[in-house]
Amino acid sequence: MITTNYLIIGSGVAGLTFAIKIADRFPDKKVTIVTKSNADESNTKYAQGGIAIVTDETEDSYQKHIEDTLICGDGLCNVEVVKMVVTEGPKRLKELIAWGAKFDKTAKGNFDLGKEGGHSQNRVVHHKDQTGHEIERAILDQVHQKGNITVLDHHFALDLLTEDNQCLGAFVLNQKTNEIITFQSDFTLLATGGIGHLYGHTTNPIIATGDGIAMAFRANATIKDMEFIQFHPTALYDTSIGSKFLISEAVRGFGAYLRTKNGNRFMLDYDSRAELASRDIVSQSIDLELKKSDDKCVYLDCTHLDLEAFIKHFPMIYERCKSIGIDIAKDWIPVVPAQHYLCGGITVDKNGKTAIDNLFACGECSRTGLHGANRLASNSLLEALVYSDKIYNYLADTAFEKKDLNPILSNWELVEKPKINSDYTATVKTGLQLLMRQNAGIVRYETDLHKAKEQLMQWQDELETILKNNQISTELYELNNMITIGNLIVQQSIIRNGNKGSFKKNN
Ligand SMILES: Cc1cc2nc3c(=O)[nH]c(=O)nc-3n(C[C@H](O)[C@H](O)[C@H](O)COP(=O)(O)OP(=O)(O)OC[C@H]3O[C@@H](n4cnc5c(N)ncnc54)[C@H](O)[C@@H]3O)c2cc1C
Repeated sequence: MITTNYLIIGSGVAGLTFAIKIADRFPDKKVTIVTKSNADESNTKYAQGGIAIVTDETEDSYQKHIEDTLICGDGLCNVEVVKMVVTEGPKRLKELIAWGAKFDKTAKGNFDLGKEGGHSQNRVVHHKDQTGHEIERAILDQVHQKGNITVLDHHFALDLLTEDNQCLGAFVLNQKTNEIITFQSDFTLLATGGIGHLYGHTTNPIIATGDGIAMAFRANATIKDMEFIQFHPTALYDTSIGSKFLISEAVRGFGAYLRTKNGNRFMLDYDSRAELASRDIVSQSIDLELKKSDDKCVYLDCTHLDLEAFIKHFPMIYERCKSIGIDIAKDWIPVVPAQHYLCGGITVDKNGKTAIDNLFACGECSRTGLHGANRLASNSLLEALVYSDKIYNYLADTAFEKKDLNPILSNWELVEKPKINSDYTATVKTGLQLLMRQNAGIVRYETDLHKAKEQLMQWQDELETILKNNQISTELYELNNMITIGNLIVQQSIIRNGNKGSFKKNN
């Protein structure tokens, strides 16, 4: 058993920024971060475009950012939350800079602001096309400097430890020794990120399997808006399953056109904002074009753009294309939509509190009400920064009464059991990913959703027996979690009537 004051599950922007603040405020308290891969592996690390923040009040304003967020969320955002998140952006940016993160500036010394779909102004603060990498580097560096923070990498959180609707910690698998450790904590923060690998074709790295949401669901937290999944319109097309390289929306903001194989700039037919319509519209339009033509991908045409400026802004994208033989000065880039972001998740209030006492959630695994039916591009890093600060402030001012652990509940019974055949988990995972792409993708059909529900229930029952009779492993738990998330997405999609934001359903 390990005892800690603050247990943080996940080491992306949400978990790390909370850790830095709480560790600074309470140098005598123990802060423990468990994370299932290398410490820096996270969706955060791959964020390209940047953070949407109003920094230039001559052209831009909070009001414009608020309006853009509300339009994108299609009537389902919580207006108070939107106002709070947008107006706190500049303070959170200052903190990141103080922690050592660097953002691009113009020759005049102002922030070099990018523009992305759904934004009426240039307001995306960025570090080349590697903003997430830069943020993760800076905050992880801060975390490593704090004497009262322990980072345990390759530690996979299995389940929360709860009693009488109170979270008392979590059960965690040390992936190197296969030991299951009980963590007792005063407060627990779920900062476990997204769900991309449920769809197979995704911009998310392999860690994105929805673990935190599934754990919270098993512990009876409220989970909402799971039907609102954002598909990024422009992932680099290739035929493999797995993480897809993202061609940032900022490339379209920079002037790139979307074309069909025949050269038709089709977005002009769908929306007056053309390539800079919000992501749901661009993804749904591409989906329609591909269904019409039976082509496998559409193309991003950058051939008319200033090459030197392109390379300066998007060095990683330029190099990646070059490495696979695409010369962006002459060739169009093949792209397809891929799962990118989950707008829903664990319901939290304005202090990041879940429905379970002493359990908080932050970042992509949480549902704050900011995104409504669709996230405005580059609002997610901002949301994580603002909410980790809210949780910090709440906990800094809250007295805590320690509860004794029930020795029976806090003990994970360890019995020698056989190991599951990994062919089984691999086969079900591939089947699950295909099912989600075909039956719960960009455009959903009522009958497909019901078929998916049946199959998911069958897998869930199967997994329940397998989990009881086999050795606990990360792959088994991730699969179980992904099936739980699939069920939540499908069931909440069945319940929702009428198209909204990223959600499109036909009868
Ligand atoms: C390619 C790409 C580009 C993006 N571009 C942008 C952008 O430009 N602007 C923007 O605002 N947003 C962008 N996003 C979205 C944004 O990056 C994420 O929403 C945000 O970083 C999520 O941060 P997080 O801390 O909530 O989760 P993450 O950064 O994903 O961190 C989750 C952490 O939890 C750990 N974890 C998960 N499950 C467990 C478990 N069971 N046990 C222990 N640890 C666990 C993971 O290992 C990881 O450390 C992008 C996302 C991707 C994938």
